[in-house]
Amino acid sequence: MADKDEEMVVTPWEVRGKIDYDRLIELFGTQRIDQRLRERIYKAAGEKHFLLERGLFFSHRDLDWLLDEYAKGHPFFIYTGRGPSGQVHIGHLIPWMFTKWLKDRFKTRLYFQLTNDEKFFFEECMTIEEVRHYTYENSLDLLALGFEPETTFLIDDIKHIDLLYELGVQVAKKVTFSTAKAVYGFENSMNIGGIWYPALQAVPAFLHSWIVGKNVPCLIPCAIDQDPHWRVTRDVADKLGYYKPASIQNKFVPGLGEGGKMSSSDPMSAIFTTDKPKLARKKVMNAFTGGRATAEEQRRLGANPDVCSVFKYYSFIFMPDDRELADIDQKCRSGAILCGECKQILAPRMVEFLERHQAAREEMKDRVDEFSAARLRDEVRR
Ligand code: SF4
Repeated sequence: MADKDEEMVVTPWEVRGKIDYDRLIELFGTQRIDQRLRERIYKAAGEKHFLLERGLFFSHRDLDWLLDEYAKGHPFFIYTGRGPSGQVHIGHLIPWMFTKWLKDRFKTRLYFQLTNDEKFFFEECMTIEEVRHYTYENSLDLLALGFEPETTFLIDDIKHIDLLYELGVQVAKKVTFSTAKAVYGFENSMNIGGIWYPALQAVPAFLHSWIVGKNVPCLIPCAIDQDPHWRVTRDVADKLGYYKPASIQNKFVPGLGEGGKMSSSDPMSAIFTTDKPKLARKKVMNAFTGGRATAEEQRRLGANPDVCSVFKYYSFIFMPDDRELADIDQKCRSGAILCGECKQILAPRMVEFLERHQAAREEMKDRVDEFSAARLRDEVRR
């Protein structure tokens, strides 16, 4: 969806301009997560989560309904995914960590779709070999977060098409070309693979219900740019007799550049999970901050954590403790800390996190098949 006045473009394939999240809620027709709903989630989950408290997850569809069903003893399953077009950076891991929290607290299954077909259709230069390579690489990053094989299913669109196709054709038949053009902005130059692809992104929302032969609620944690997919999926759900999937949506996790920009053409603008610790430290030390031009000015006037990429990393991953975060916030605004000192707190945390993640990633290298959705073929046959 594009809003020219505010120069904001947010579609599943393009995000640019200054993002106004209130406007996105309005444009997409989703609901805001308010304190009442947060409390409901915490009560059902048995604990709070800082990413909800700090507003990273801010919007939803049908979460109240999902929690009503859960309270009635109807468990749900989780569906999320990743388009494997490159290496994963720290920002990608944050919503996946939240997904793990949801999965653990609500004891659900996770269906994780690796949309390698999508990346092949939409990324002009990507080859099949590259999407295959990143499907494997990105799987390692997800699994390094500690998901259990018994309840986690990695769906590789290209490899597991036999599992997806029967539902895919049913979805595709219910979506007209004019709907696809209106929702996704397709033009005549779009290859026909890209036009078909949204049908396949809808499938995992119904897959579990189809396998077990009864309607099971589905929750999709995702970034808000994916919402157009869920609008179409929810519309089709009605027509196919499945529950509409609920979703819980996050803001975009910022990178290290000015205005939180992360650019694939600038590897210094994000910290990748495969970065060597020395490089990660260098990226942290070069990150854009809300600091003043000189140390003297900063001590006198204070700095601005609201626009600082370092502070965002504290908020969304490295300082879950509210008191510690409030302390940095206060020191930053009052000028009691300079940006160089502040980055010296982040750098070792980042390095330690990366070393741990990379070791866990290494351990998963021969274990990806244990999580393969190919196992679901047996469940379908039963
Ligand atoms: Fe950011 Fe820290 Fe500088 Fe404040 S002191 S602007 S939080 S780097």
